[in-house]
Amino acid sequence: MMTPFRGRNQPEESLRARILRRDGFRCVYCGSIHPDEELTLDHVQPRARGGDGSDGNLVTACQACNTLKASHPAWAFLADRPEQRENFLRYGTAVWERHRRAVVEAASRRDGSTR
Ligand SMILES: [Zn+2]
Repeated sequence: MMTPFRGRNQPEESLRARILRRDGFRCVYCGSIHPDEELTLDHVQPRARGGDGSDGNLVTACQACNTLKASHPAWAFLADRPEQRENFLRYGTAVWERHRRAVVEAASRRDGSTR
């Protein structure tokens, strides 16, 4: 299920347009460029887990990837998906450094333990 990205006083369209343009209409997870209508905004750290709607927490994701990721934080989603993780680190350059670091750390932690 996609998170409806709607807030009472959020300039939804312009924020979406800005993030999509920033990421070059490329899904940061599969690394493919998609037409506008197939793209969504994804919260790197989901709102339910304390993520907010600022630029460093938002990335462009295609509907397929966003559906897969669901409400997982990026680090959990990417822990056992090396290909998507590489794309995320390559294309999600506007993502906050701490989120990027969490992705890298979760992936290396995963070698030793589960979860
Ligand atoms: Zn994708």
